[in-house]
Parts: sequence; C-alpha cells; structure tokens
Amino acid sequence: MEIYDHPTFRMACRQFDLVADRLEIPHNERARLKFPKRSMTIAVPIRCDDGETQVFAGYRVQHHLTLGPTKGGLRYHPDVTLGEVAALAMWMSWKCALTGLPYGGAKGGVACEPRNLSLGELERLTRRYTQEMIPFIGEKVDVMAPDMGTNEQTMAWIMDTYSVHAGYAVPGIVTGKPVSIGGSLGRRESTGRGVGYLINRAMDTIGLHASQSRAVIQGFGNVGSVAAFSLAKYGVKVVGVGDAMGGLYNAKGIDLWELEKHAAAARSVVGFPGAEPISNDQLLALPCEILVPAALERQITDVNAPKIQCRILAEAANGPTTPDADVILDRRAEIFVIPDILCNAGGVVVSYFEWVQDLQSFFWTETEVTDKLFRILESAFTQTLTLSRKQKVSMRMAALTLGIKRVQEAKRIRGLFP
Ligand code: NAD
Repeated sequence: MEIYDHPTFRMACRQFDLVADRLEIPHNERARLKFPKRSMTIAVPIRCDDGETQVFAGYRVQHHLTLGPTKGGLRYHPDVTLGEVAALAMWMSWKCALTGLPYGGAKGGVACEPRNLSLGELERLTRRYTQEMIPFIGEKVDVMAPDMGTNEQTMAWIMDTYSVHAGYAVPGIVTGKPVSIGGSLGRRESTGRGVGYLINRAMDTIGLHASQSRAVIQGFGNVGSVAAFSLAKYGVKVVGVGDAMGGLYNAKGIDLWELEKHAAAARSVVGFPGAEPISNDQLLALPCEILVPAALERQITDVNAPKIQCRILAEAANGPTTPDADVILDRRAEIFVIPDILCNAGGVVVSYFEWVQDLQSFFWTETEVTDKLFRILESAFTQTLTLSRKQKVSMRMAALTLGIKRVQEAKRIRGLFP
C-alpha cells in the first residue's frame, strides 16, 4: 500500500515478512495481517499566540481490531508521517499480542516541534486533534497514551475534550494521564522500569553482574530517564547519556539526580557540568555493557552496528535497529538483544492496567501494579528466550513470531466477514 511508504514502514514490513516466511503464512493471509485496518489523516488548525493560524498534519492508524480496542501512543515530532505512524501501530499489535493484552495496535501523531510551541498552543493543538478524532476513538474503540513529545498533561487535555463531548467523565479514553483524574500509580515509570527489569533478567541470563556493568542511554525523556534511574537502583553505573541536542560521557558515572535537575532547567542534558560533551555517534559507540536506545527509530544501522561495544542492546525505543543492522548483530553472538516489542512493553502493560482500573472504577496500589507488571514481563521474556533457544533464532525473531502468530490465530478462528 503506497500511502504508507516510508523507511520505517518498510522496515516493519520487512521484519513481518521474515517471520511470515518462517511461519509459512499463506500469502492470502499476509496482507490482512500486515496492513492497517484504518488510518486517518487530518488537518489540525490552531490559533497561535501571535494571532496567526497554523495548520498541522495529524494522523491516527488502527492496525487491527481482532482482539479488542486498539491501543497506542500519540507522538508530537517534526518527522511524524502516516508511514511512520503505521509502522509504530504494527509494532504495537505484535507487542500487545506478545504480552497477552486484549488489544490491537494503534499509533497517532502530529507533525510539529513541541519545543517551539507555547503551553497554550500545545493545549489548543491537542484539543483540536482530539475533536477531529472523536468519530474514530472511544474507550472500547481506540485508547491513546503518551509517546515522544507528549505527556500526562497531553492525556489530561484529551480526556477533558472527549469528556466534554460525551457530557460525563470518560477516564478510559486515554492512559498515562495524571493519577488525580483516573491515571494509574506507576504508569509514568512503567516503560523505563520494565526496561530496567528486563535488562536485569538479561544480565542474569548471560552472567553479567550489575555492579560491574556500565550503561549508555540515548534519550533522556520519560523512558530513558526512568530506565537510567532503574538501572542505577540495580547497581549499574550510567556512564553515557544523550538527547536530541547532544551527548555526555563520564567514565566514573554520571550523577543522575543532578543531571535530572539540569535537564529540567535547560530542557536538555547538554551543558551538564558533571560530564564531558560528546556527539550522538560517539555515544552509541562508547564501551559499555548495556546500550539503551530510548529515543527514535533507525538509530542502530549497518554503519554503526559493527562499532557498538555492548553486551546487551536493550531497545527501549520503538524500532531503533534497522533490519540491515540486525544481520550484523545476528553475527555478533556476544550481543544479547532485548527487542523493542518486549523491552518497552512495560508501558502498554500498565496502560492496560490503567484502562481496567478506569472501566471498573477500582484502583490498585503501586505495589500491585509493579508486581503484576513484572509477572507479565517475566512470562514474555521467558517465552521469548525459550523460543529463541529452541528454534535457534534471534530474540527479535522469537518475540515477533509469538506476537504475529497470536494475531494470525485470532484472525483465523474469527474468520473473514462476510
Ligand atoms: P520523550 O519525548 O519523553 O523523550 C524522547 C527523548 O529522545 C528526549 O530526550 C529527546 O531529546 C531524545 N531525542 C529525540 N530525538 C533524538 C535524536 N535525534 N537523537 C538523540 N536523542 C533524541 O519520549 P519517550 O516517551 O521517552 O519515548 C522514547 C521512545 O520510547 C520512543 O521511541 C517511544 O516510541 C518509545 N516508547 C515510549 C513509551 C512511553 O510510555 N512513553 C512506551 C513504549 C515505547
């Protein structure tokens, strides 16, 4: 389908095709599994603070509707396109199936640079985007969550706009919202905390000790910063951190508390006095035991894959590794990859918990949330590792196989209408 053509969508399709070939999925089932069920492209006009009107392109893609409502984040980033959103929606489908959640995948986005918009402009953009999407979303239809460039406040505006339309509060329309309006304890930390948990499991698996391990993290937003603190709790030393503006390195370890304060004030890690500045390319090639891409897609490529120097590649971001880089990583047996659909699944798992709590109006403690989160991640990790070892395939191939197979089975048993 040409409308989705984009390097990230081609990458998601290539991954799917590799699994489909291995599973010998008949060709007449492939297109049904691969291409999104619905996609919306909208114009989002807002009045800017200077009185001018600006129109932004907004998207929402619902990948499949077979197992329940669709679920997925909303991204604000200048590079957002329909094809990128479609790829992210497809990965959400496999991720939800891998972790056994009753959802299809979805993703949304607005092509904008949120750093250049005032709070008022961001609110108007979010409310107008939501208004345009109202015919296509609902707590039993499609449920949004934060992603790159969006946060709890964004979710609160969406929930409010939708609730005003409905005439009553509908907390289940989004997850990742503030606890005071029906959010779940532990949701904000869930993705990064899950990343930390899975890295710890991977360290056990390959015999690394946390206290002797160094981590490098690309991205210091919601996921990257929580993953950094989580790793530090396990005893890992964080030696490198980077964001969109640049990177930092300190072989003795970076003081994360001080860095967090600096990043909050400067809106970037760059300029932090407790480490030396480095480029993003240098960051990814730093010697370390654990490398955590927690920013954008397509960061580990065939160019830098031979240069990375880690033992564990923990894909906190969605799609950080290209299929060409995968070929190289497959040959580098010393690197244990925790693939994205497993590594960052903590976010959607706790989103699911939040949704369940909202539908029941019955809320859990943070300990219950974290305990249930770790059980689901443990099960998904073990199933993936077992399949990877049994069939001698990469962890990515194993995780995708589990996810794709479950969606395929569900589609088969439900049949094709009419
Ligand atoms: P965020 O907006 O909070 O943070 C993104 C970080 O990436 C920022 O530090 C930003 O400066 C950095 N970044 C952006 N462009 C960069 C570049 N070119 N080079 C280096 N760094 C760059 O976003 P987030 O919510 O932390 O999401 C990060 C990744 O995790 C995304 O791939 C997202 O899809 C994925 N993810 C997020 C969640 C979640 O719950 N938020 C869940 C699952 C997956």
